[in-house]
Order: sequence, then C-alpha cells, then structure tokens
Amino acid sequence: MISAKGLTKLFGTQTVLKDIRLQVQKGDVISVIGPSGSGKSTLLRCLNLLEIPDGGEVNGCGHLIRFPVRTDRQFNQDVQAIRLKVGMVFQSFNLWPHMTALQNVTEALLVVKRMSKEEAKTIALEQLATVGLLDKKDSYPSKLSGGQQQRVAIARTLAMDPEVILFDEPTSALDPELVGEVLKVIKRLAESGRTMMVVTHEMGFAREISSRAIFMENGSILQEGSSEDIFYNSNEFRIRSFLTNLK
Ligand code: ADP
Ligand code: MG
Repeated sequence: MISAKGLTKLFGTQTVLKDIRLQVQKGDVISVIGPSGSGKSTLLRCLNLLEIPDGGEVNGCGHLIRFPVRTDRQFNQDVQAIRLKVGMVFQSFNLWPHMTALQNVTEALLVVKRMSKEEAKTIALEQLATVGLLDKKDSYPSKLSGGQQQRVAIARTLAMDPEVILFDEPTSALDPELVGEVLKVIKRLAESGRTMMVVTHEMGFAREISSRAIFMENGSILQEGSSEDIFYNSNEFRIRSFLTNLK
C-alpha cells in the first residue's frame, strides 16, 4: 500500500527524518511510537505528501515518487493521487465551524470528488453512522464534544474512501473522559481490516490494535517489528525505558 526508502526530510539545516525505510501492507495496523520531536508527525505527513521529502522515495498505492523532484505535471498528478488514497486524521480535528457535521463530511466529496449532492449525502450519512453520530448530523462543531468532533473528522476521512488512513495522535487534544469513544471507533476500523498507521501515546490501545509497531528516535526508526517485538520483547534499552516511563 505504502512503501518508503531512504526517506529524508530537513527543516532548514535540521534533519528531521533520516533514511527511513518502511512498508505498509494491506490490512496492517502499524503503531508509531517514540518521544516527542522524534519525527512521527513528519513521517506521516511525508507519506501522504503534506510535506515534500528532500530525498528517497515514496510509493503510495502504486504511485512512485523520487525526491528531490522537479515540480512538473506528473509530480502534481501523483501527489493528488496519493493524497486521495492516503487519508489523514489530525490531533486537532480541523472541522469547518460554519458547517454542520453532515456538511463537513460532504464538502470534499462535492468539491474534490465532484459528486452529486445526493450521492455525497448518502455516503456521508453512512459514515456518520459508522462513527455512531447519525443523530448529530445537523449539529455544528461548537455544539459537539471534542470526542464527537474527532469522530466527525474520522467520518470525513472515511467518506473519501481511502486505502490507508494515517492517524496523528487522534486523542491527544481530548479530555480524558472523551478518549475512549474515539479509540473505540479506531479499534473497530482496525478490526474491520482497514490499513492504518497510528501515532499514539495510548500504549495499551496501541498494543491491542496493532499488528506491527515502529519506534522512532531522532528522525530514525530505532526498531520496527511485530507488536510483541516492540511492546514486550525489545532489547533496546531506550524503547524499554520509554515504555516504562509512560506507565
Ligand atoms: P513528533 O511528531 O514525533 O513529535 P515532529 O515530526 O512533529 O515530531 O517533529 C520533528 C522535528 O521537526 C522537531 O524537532 C520539530 O521541531 C521539527 N519540525 C516539525 N515541523 C516543523 C516545521 N514545519 N518547521 C520546522 N521544524 C519543524
Ligand atoms: Mg507529532
């Protein structure tokens, strides 16, 4: 679904991602863990081309891009294609405040996918039902809790019918009592066979849902392996101490 090789990203003179290699297969649920500032968000953003890497290559759903790249037509087409197939859910839900839940979910279907209103509405209602918010379809974000807003954001991403979903700390902005409802929705997506990568500090959740895990440190992948390899059996001192200190 996604692979990256030699992926490198700089901000100014700071190398934020160094020679990243990874593969995401269909059905994988990969948790991405590691200290703050280690490059987890930048990695996700490079995989769906919200950030343009400086070196290496990304193959997203069959579209191979090598970096650095000339900004030409083919490049732009590949970037559009990857962004459509690789959905993203952010920490801050980024809903449009002047639109209802339903309008938030239909907007990109109308504008980006150029669907008819009826078609967009049918899909949006289906996905609002998936996240358990059909009854809130006409509510504005200000009338929804943070957990409900994040579930609308997830419905919005699902509505675009992505092949892979990247979650960047989807519960970090939520009050503790609202975390569970969002994790439950993500867990159900994982169980239904969705391909996803999840950056999270919820270690219990990560252990439970992921088939594989990646530990990042200083812009590199320190270890990548099965969930057991990373969460229970890692020989890396820094991974063990990271996990211990979070408990
Ligand atoms: P994480 O998600 O693991 O906390 P990030 O990917 O957000 O880490 O950040 C990795 C490093 O890149 C940090 O040192 C951060 O300050 C830096 N960084 C992230 N985004 C930008 C940006 N847009 N401009 C400059 N530096 C950035
Ligand atoms: Mg981050």
